[in-house]
Amino acid sequence: MIDGRTENARTLASLLGVNVEEAAPLLDVAIAVTADPADEAGMAVARHLQRFLRRTVVEAPLNSFRANVAAEVVIGAAAPCRAGAVRVHISRDCIVIGTWAPTEVVCPDTHPVLHVLAACYAAGVVLKSVFGAHLQVPGPAASNGLTIPISSILGPDPTWLTADFVLSGTYLAGAGAIGNSFLYALSLLRVSGALVVVDPDTVSAGNLNRCVWFTSNDIGLPKASRLSDLAQPSFPRLTLIPQRETLQDLGKAQSTEMWLKRLVVAVDRRRTRRHLQLEIPGEVFDASTTGAIECVFHHHVQPTDSACLACIYYESVDELARERHLAETLGVELTDIAQHFVSPDAARRIHERYPDVPVEALGGQAYDTLFKALCGEAKLLTADNRQVLAPFAFVSVFAGAYLAIELGRRLVLGKTACDFNYWRTSPWASPVTDLKDMRGRHERCEFCSQAVLLQTARGLWGHSQ
Ligand SMILES: [Zn+2]
Repeated sequence: MIDGRTENARTLASLLGVNVEEAAPLLDVAIAVTADPADEAGMAVARHLQRFLRRTVVEAPLNSFRANVAAEVVIGAAAPCRAGAVRVHISRDCIVIGTWAPTEVVCPDTHPVLHVLAACYAAGVVLKSVFGAHLQVPGPAASNGLTIPISSILGPDPTWLTADFVLSGTYLAGAGAIGNSFLYALSLLRVSGALVVVDPDTVSAGNLNRCVWFTSNDIGLPKASRLSDLAQPSFPRLTLIPQRETLQDLGKAQSTEMWLKRLVVAVDRRRTRRHLQLEIPGEVFDASTTGAIECVFHHHVQPTDSACLACIYYESVDELARERHLAETLGVELTDIAQHFVSPDAARRIHERYPDVPVEALGGQAYDTLFKALCGEAKLLTADNRQVLAPFAFVSVFAGAYLAIELGRRLVLGKTACDFNYWRTSPWASPVTDLKDMRGRHERCEFCSQAVLLQTARGLWGHSQ
């Protein structure tokens, strides 16, 4: 199976328009992180940044002078070790990242969850400075830098961050990259109660480059219980309850239809997201990454006349073409791919085409993971398959962290915070608040186009929210 290093090389190859053999050695670099040990907030940003960069390039030494680093990020007022360093400045109002950013200590009142986001933005800028203008990502060049108004992320009044909120009847679907980073950021908010962590899968080597809690010791172990065990010590007032199965199977075992009051969606495929809508959750918080570039956030409360999860992730032509290609390559049917995981029968058929891989190693695998492991890079880099590229760690962290922020913000502030149900944003670029949107239903949505499902949603959730 593929390791995280190869995943990163494939992603970089795609972003640079080169082949994987050319891209792999480019990641064999060190990026230095420098912060003043007396600047507590600055050190917090530095430690997050080091954690994310280490999952992408080979080394990210913190406050350790090295002659052969490819680039340096300096947090706050610390003195750089080399010329041309990328600076990170955080004031009360904005985060500024660039070679020209002001040289001042990080505002000590900065909320810890902003340290995580600042580190994500800094990772994007410094990778641009390492890989140069050929990197096909949005946003300005490293030399121009980024300015991020804090209100665009936290809303106009950030005081909600000081309020407590309680989770109950809440399920996290997906303990992979976004599930990991969701809990990473959520642990910095004032949350209590209980959260059920649902994932049928096990940790693979290819997950390690973007799952912030997992290490090589976790390979082969169930994602849901490993994530819960690793994150629990950071949640003194929230209980994490792991469930190693799909949300659909978990639902079958529930005695009441009202079981899914709130769903946090962190699964890795559009189709799985659409199918989760058929469970008729009362409230949905969703974040996803598009290729290696963008993050999408979605929220709705039933009953709604606006977009549901299945409207947002409506089946696209690209997606169908990609799944057809996956099915043809592996020697299975489209209906098999729709199940997401390889059934014993499909495992037998894939084994006929790939006799070197034992049937036992195929059963239960996710199709995307299997495809990446069995098929060559050339196939992966066609346009249809860009969706299977795993984003760099900081992109997934950004998506999960923003998901945690919106969960907290909307639970504390209630309806007044529900001023948009969709936002596309990218850690490679400054946020564009004009893109915050209230999306309507998709006319052919597989959920909203069925009157009986809408009626059920109204019956279940019409009076309880
Ligand atoms: Zn819909």
